Amino acid sequence: MGHHRADHRAVRGLPSATRAPAQPGRHAAVQSAVVRPQRARTRILGAVPTLFGVAVLAVAGTGAVGTSPGSDLPRGVSATVASAPAASSSESQAVEGQEIVIDLEEREAAISRDSQRQALQDAADAELVEAAEEQAVERNATLKSLAKATEQRASQLRADQWTIPTSNYRLTARFGQSGGYWSSNHTGLDFAAPSGTPIVSVAAGQVTETGYDGSYGNKTVVTLTDGTEIWYCHQTTVDVQVGQQVGSGQQIGTVGSTGNSTGPHLHLEVRPGGGDPVDPYQALVVNGLTP
Ligand SMILES: [Zn+2]
Repeated sequence: MGHHRADHRAVRGLPSATRAPAQPGRHAAVQSAVVRPQRARTRILGAVPTLFGVAVLAVAGTGAVGTSPGSDLPRGVSATVASAPAASSSESQAVEGQEIVIDLEEREAAISRDSQRQALQDAADAELVEAAEEQAVERNATLKSLAKATEQRASQLRADQWTIPTSNYRLTARFGQSGGYWSSNHTGLDFAAPSGTPIVSVAAGQVTETGYDGSYGNKTVVTLTDGTEIWYCHQTTVDVQVGQQVGSGQQIGTVGSTGNSTGPHLHLEVRPGGGDPVDPYQALVVNGLTP
């Protein structure tokens, strides 16, 4: 390609060697070179092929830097021709002509660079969008994870939530009370309530024991998830079976007066780890309840 275009310009150099430097016909020369390339090429073919090669190499070596101030094609042409000596060689003309070609190539290259720059910018934008989308996905995943954790925590709190074990009651005997009625200090908290009043589990757990137990009468033991045993005594009825899972507030039986009892009431005991009893009242208070 470059050689063909160089041919056009080089032709101009041959006749111009006979012209005066500031010859006003330079525009005509340019025109003839541009407008009649076919004829010009015909005239010099075989005459300066080697010269063209030198010119092209020279331009290629200096790159596009050699373009005259302002890269507009007409000005580049004028400056070139005006500065060319009368007896300038075909080579210099060819070089100048090549410069014009380079001007065009430079312009094309500039356009190409602009396109490339735009493409790079587009790519960068695309990467930013992609990164933003990835962040959004991550954020959503994090929020979902947080929501799940919150729900699990709420579920756990609900499971841990304690409930007053019966209703329509009044407290008639506290933990640790002593008296002739008990062989030792009172081991639980008494909720006096009408016979048949529902008894509910104070918290979530598993039924680990049911049945008649001497002075305790009909008794149900629910073991909570932390291992604490809750004893419900003197029941009229037992509504659950060993091994059954119960939730906080779920009915497990009814108030009665079975065993060593002077009247219908719920005797409630709290035994951490299945060991010695602690004050049920305090246990309820610790769990946010005031019986
Ligand atoms: Zn009692």
